[in-house]
Amino acid sequence: IRRNAGESEFHQAIHEVLESLGRVVAKHPHYLDHALIERICEPERQIIFRIPWVDDQGQVQINRGFRVQFNSALGPYKGGMRFHPSVNVGIIKFLGFEQTFKNALTGMPIGGGKGGSDFDPKGRSDAEIMRFCQSLMTELHRHLGEQTDVPAGDIGVGGREIGYMFGQYKRLNNRFEAGVFTGKALDYGGSRARTEATGYGNTYFVQAMLQTKGTDFDGKKVVVSGSGNVAIYTIEKVQSFGGKVVACSDSSGYVLDEGGIDLELLKDIKDMRHERISEYALRRGKGAHFIAADKGSIWDVDCDVAMPSATQNELSGKDAATLIKNGVMAVGEGANMPSTPEAIKAFQDGGVMFAPGKAANAGGVATSALEMQQNASRDSWTFDQTEARLATIMRGIHDTCHQTAEHYGAPGNYVLGANIAGFVRVAESMRKLGVI
Ligand code: NDP
Repeated sequence: IRRNAGESEFHQAIHEVLESLGRVVAKHPHYLDHALIERICEPERQIIFRIPWVDDQGQVQINRGFRVQFNSALGPYKGGMRFHPSVNVGIIKFLGFEQTFKNALTGMPIGGGKGGSDFDPKGRSDAEIMRFCQSLMTELHRHLGEQTDVPAGDIGVGGREIGYMFGQYKRLNNRFEAGVFTGKALDYGGSRARTEATGYGNTYFVQAMLQTKGTDFDGKKVVVSGSGNVAIYTIEKVQSFGGKVVACSDSSGYVLDEGGIDLELLKDIKDMRHERISEYALRRGKGAHFIAADKGSIWDVDCDVAMPSATQNELSGKDAATLIKNGVMAVGEGANMPSTPEAIKAFQDGGVMFAPGKAANAGGVATSALEMQQNASRDSWTFDQTEARLATIMRGIHDTCHQTAEHYGAPGNYVLGANIAGFVRVAESMRKLGVI
């Protein structure tokens, strides 16, 4: 704790994994040898750097950049870049740590890493975003490579930002190295279905979880927080499975639409115009209401399935109690660590099926690995082909977590199943690679 002082999210993520490992080391005490667990908790490398850039008024702005290369026992570091004013080293470390186990769960040859900046893209012009991305990459490029470290998007980083970062990387290295970034546009080496993958993947995971209880999304009332990349494609897939999504949000508040969210309208407001979520209620008219963030929580809305898809610690113990009182039966985390430890405990004690982010939202990174495969073979797959691979991978992750939980005497505990299955894959590789 002293060594990572003040990094509360990092402590939270480590604590949750370590809590699950008691049952593994009881069965396999050799995991206690060679400080393996201590090494897994320590990033292999952390890079922190200055990002100076010039705004549209000619003023010099300074931001801080981060890349935490957490673990490369299974393959090159892999994980997104986040641009948000709340970013600090503790947040990037928690995300990199989670990413290591998530990537292991996909069964693919990718290590774990994460990066980002405290840059706030809101209200910035296109030219400012480009200059910022170019300055960031002028420093970061020397630490990346398709066999070394392969970033992607996350909060505040979508196709536009990836284009600017990849463009600067290509220029500095004088090499078209498509596999160094994922989440690229289709025109220059992106994969079909990558944009949809995290939201679709979470929906596939929750569908598999519901099926273990003989039910599915058809006719279920669903609440999805956020209205960014993950939320939008969660809503799309849930609707295609016959579920009715009645609420979504952004940091300003949430909209309640008992008639079911109009996805085309939401995409127009969020993807095309980059407006606030209150605009949805205004344009949708009768039946849709906007509730400001200081007036209520999206988790007050009664639903069968909750899919938090905005940010870490957005769903508290109190929110979980309200959801349980309202009869929620399943929770699927689209975001990384959106439920607090108190919320997770309440769901588990209350008999709610709970899918942790490191398993349920792994579809994004899994499809990034498929993008790397397409780049390596200079191929481009169809949407249906790629989505079919995603569906199979998500089913596999679900079954692995489910079976691991049973094997270790905690049936239905997907948190335990995900943590143990991810840990064992990373730990086995690390053992074989020696003390490095
Ligand atoms: P986006 O930037 O596209 O969307 C983020 C959404 O969450 C926005 O609606 C945003 O609202 C809201 N949000 C962000 N911060 C807060 C906050 N502090 N309080 C309330 N709402 C907030 O990001 P993504 O959809 O890509 O990512 C969402 C989550 O999913 C993150 O936890 C990310 O790590 C995780 N994830 C993403 C993957 C991907 O492939 N994109 C893969 C795996 C996980 P506003 O616009 O008002 O800020």
